Amino acid sequence: MADQDVRLIEAIRNARPFLKTVHGNDYLAAKASDFAAFTRGALLVTAVFVLSTIVWDFTIDAVNAPRVIWLRCLQAALVLMWALASWRNVHAPMARVLAVLGPMAVEATFVHILGVLDQGAAYGMGGFLYFFIFMPFLTLAQPLAFSVVVLVGIAVFPPLLHLAGWSVGIEWRIYFAYIGLVIGPVMLILLLFEYLYWTVFRYRRQVEAQAGTDGLTAVANRRYFLTEATARLRLQSEQGRATSLLFIDIDRFKAINDMHGHVLGDQVLTHVVGRLRHVLGDRDLIARYGGEEFVVLLPDTDVEEARVVAERMRHAVKSAACRSDAYELDIVSTVSVGVATHRADQPADLDRLIAEADRAVYTAKRAGRDCVVAAEGSGPS
Ligand code: GH3
Ligand code: MG
Ligand code: MG
Repeated sequence: MADQDVRLIEAIRNARPFLKTVHGNDYLAAKASDFAAFTRGALLVTAVFVLSTIVWDFTIDAVNAPRVIWLRCLQAALVLMWALASWRNVHAPMARVLAVLGPMAVEATFVHILGVLDQGAAYGMGGFLYFFIFMPFLTLAQPLAFSVVVLVGIAVFPPLLHLAGWSVGIEWRIYFAYIGLVIGPVMLILLLFEYLYWTVFRYRRQVEAQAGTDGLTAVANRRYFLTEATARLRLQSEQGRATSLLFIDIDRFKAINDMHGHVLGDQVLTHVVGRLRHVLGDRDLIARYGGEEFVVLLPDTDVEEARVVAERMRHAVKSAACRSDAYELDIVSTVSVGVATHRADQPADLDRLIAEADRAVYTAKRAGRDCVVAAEGSGPS
């Protein structure tokens, strides 16, 4: 098979995930916020452009042009209304309604203007081309399917007006020749914009994910944890729910590095994280806090429940050695775990919780390691 055929088949195969992503909630929310200012600007420019076509009307037919000035003002007003409805939220129901009705009303008045001006239809037919070329910019922030429907809708709207009896001497053969010429490229412009934004969206997602992930163990990193856990703790606190934090430190980890080297040390780190994750639920947040130290935020977990989770983690690590085929070694590690619990009656303070759990780990280390200690003041122990 030729290279081009393979690429085409790939493109078709990728089309479904592409279409699904570009209509997903996250994507649309990002697009709405990224293109809000652009949409407002494009609509304001369009309103000014519509007003400026008064000059064009006078050039064609100075006698009848004064009769349609009010229609040009009406068109500009409709576009301004569309801009206003989109001001705060381009996806607001009214913004969407005007994104459909606005262009159609502009078209209907445009068709009427062409009928009023002497030879208007003959001179003005090209105006439809401008109209179509503007559209992708005006509906850029909307879902792709919506923009396509609007574009097709306004292509068939003038002939429908004609069928409904609103005939103004437009040569329909010429209309369809114009629209046939422009609709393909305009659809392509729409698709191209969507493709470009989709690419940016994916890269941004990837960069965000990487910025919040620890490169070695693939769990969240400290920066991500501090931001996310602060938000989650605040929410838990507002809802009067208990939250616990575990501080986990691998015991005598330096000795593993010193004895077997950093490569194996890294392998042990990854292995231990795998064991810890085994115990966690979907709502628990684990992160690498520093070198061989990990933190876990447990929502809706009081100190006793947190102790149980911590014991399970300690056991999960201790009970499964890290196998190194390269060194033909089984390395058994242990962890010391500090538990701190945020009670519903306290103000949410992640730093304090981390500091308490950290102190509890220190106590666990002094107590001989491989054990769980709850911070004082974390509730009944
Ligand atoms: P303790 O039981 O008191 O916690 O003793 P420890 O040896 O675990 O503690 P210490 O803080 O003395 O040593 C932590 C070691 O972790 C030191 C550092 O070299 C190692 N370390 C930190 N990050 C990494 C890493 O990414 N890879 C490897 N291989 N080692 C790391
Ligand atoms: Mg340490
Ligand atoms: Mg340690």
